[in-house]
Amino acid sequence: MTGSTPSDFIRDIIREDLRTNKYGGRVHTRFPPEPNGYLHIGHAKSICLNFGVAEEFGGLCNLRFDDTNPTKESAEYVEAIKRDIKWLGFDWGDREYYASDYFEKLYDYAVQLIKAGKAYVCDLSQEEIREYRGTLTEPGRESPYRNRSVEENLDLFARMRAGEFPDGSRVLRAKIDMASPNVLMRDPVIYRILHATHHRTGDKWCIYPMYDFTHCLSDSIEGITHSLCTLEFENNRELYDWFLDQLGVYHPQQIEFARLNLTYTVMSKRILKQLVDGGYVRGWDDPRMPTLSGLRRRGYTPEAIRNFCDTIGVARTNSVVDIELLEHHVREDLNKRAPRVMAVLRPLRLVIDNYPEGQVEEVEAENNPEDPSMGTRKVPFSGVLYIEQGDFQENPPKGWFRLAPGQEVRLKHAYYVKCTQVIKDEQTGEVIELHCTYDPESRGGWTSDGRKVKGTLHWVSAAHALPAEVRLYDRLFTVPNPLEQGDNFLNYVNPNSLEVLTACQVEPSLAGAKPGSHYQFLRLGYFCVDPDSCDGKLVFNRTVSLRDTWAKMQKAQQAE
Ligand code: ATP
Ligand code: MG
Repeated sequence: MTGSTPSDFIRDIIREDLRTNKYGGRVHTRFPPEPNGYLHIGHAKSICLNFGVAEEFGGLCNLRFDDTNPTKESAEYVEAIKRDIKWLGFDWGDREYYASDYFEKLYDYAVQLIKAGKAYVCDLSQEEIREYRGTLTEPGRESPYRNRSVEENLDLFARMRAGEFPDGSRVLRAKIDMASPNVLMRDPVIYRILHATHHRTGDKWCIYPMYDFTHCLSDSIEGITHSLCTLEFENNRELYDWFLDQLGVYHPQQIEFARLNLTYTVMSKRILKQLVDGGYVRGWDDPRMPTLSGLRRRGYTPEAIRNFCDTIGVARTNSVVDIELLEHHVREDLNKRAPRVMAVLRPLRLVIDNYPEGQVEEVEAENNPEDPSMGTRKVPFSGVLYIEQGDFQENPPKGWFRLAPGQEVRLKHAYYVKCTQVIKDEQTGEVIELHCTYDPESRGGWTSDGRKVKGTLHWVSAAHALPAEVRLYDRLFTVPNPLEQGDNFLNYVNPNSLEVLTACQVEPSLAGAKPGSHYQFLRLGYFCVDPDSCDGKLVFNRTVSLRDTWAKMQKAQQAE
């Protein structure tokens, strides 16, 4: 971790607990994902917090799958979650746990509650239970099954487990208080009947425990000290404490913090799954997704994500973070590690008429001006090049420093060239080729006469460049808060979030570049090799453009 220890209200609580020796000096957290989808950047905040706190205080952090809903969960999600946590750089050691491993124990705890007269089997339908629950302003009504005898409850619960009853016909409920101001305390359901195959326990069970019952007891079983969860569980804390108190077992403390929200995206597995299933994106790891697998494929680094999480910190009030802040951290990190190379996304042929026929030179190019230790490489230069279509204008506006008829520019690392002729397609009038002359005295991009040009263009040598596909991404949604528009968020998916350029040309040093490697394409942004690359065809994702809107906003704010 970084040198200075972060400070926030959770770490303050832990320090105080250590001072008073509340848990015998132990700090033990857990990260408890439900394997019903892939992890997203919001989970990264929770992972950094739980694993980070454990690391800082010499404690432990468990990975626990909260797998109590077999119809939504799968082994694929379990594997993806493990991969993503490892990629972020955290290690749960041998503490990989599953709530489903505790099903037998949880069943025993439920029986214990029944014996204590604290739980009962209820035959009301789901609809009726909701109706009986009351509202925030009105108390609920007691179920007619509430006063079943312990014996009858034990018998019915055992028969629920034995598979005698159909789904939805009965539930086990905690017997608490139908008039509690906290609606969650009004005899919550703790077991439901569900004849479904579980990805780990198979068909062993046909009753499954609910989240509130499972979570606190799993924490207790594992000896968790600080159970950190997001603010929407604040009202569940009373129930968390109730179960542990009634059962008289070891009692961790639940502490809530604000969840991460980011502009221009959505952040819930359930909702992200709709994007995947509806074909709005190419999969969970689509580079437009806020999933960790999507961000990885896009070229975000674990370091950037961790630095981002450190920066946003942990607080008790909900807020929405600008996606530009995340992108800022990505740029900061890639600026240090990504080699600079030249790539042309929309090629325009440029022929140097006075360049010796057949000659090829190798020009020296620095790999990263930020880090001289990254060295230099040779880039082939010849009389036929590609430049970017956008770097030429036949009738340029005032102040145009790039190429135009009669205008001179510098080709990065190479020579000055001056445009002498423009060739157009006879049918369409489209510019298809430029002719130039070069100044042999300007090698390296400087002249002895001190003549200056204002424009510097990137280029590749046509005979040496490699073909590539480049995928450019824009925001996934057209509005900063797609879930708060009042209608279906799917109406706000950005139809132009992906642009695929298939005729790109990249410098030959990129031959064999491995999926996941990062580059800065000069003047164009940071790019990452996509796993779709195969022999002969490189595929790149644009990770982020070069323009740091976050840094700009900060500067403007400081100036005010
Ligand atoms: P989702 O709606 O994405 O499924 P969840 O909270 O239901 O989110 P879990 O798999 O239960 O997903 O989450 C595991 C842990 O990650 C929980 O402790 C949860 O509080 C935390 N978490 C989930 N989303 C965020 C978020 N946006 N910011 C911070 N922590 C989060
Ligand atoms: Mg969930």
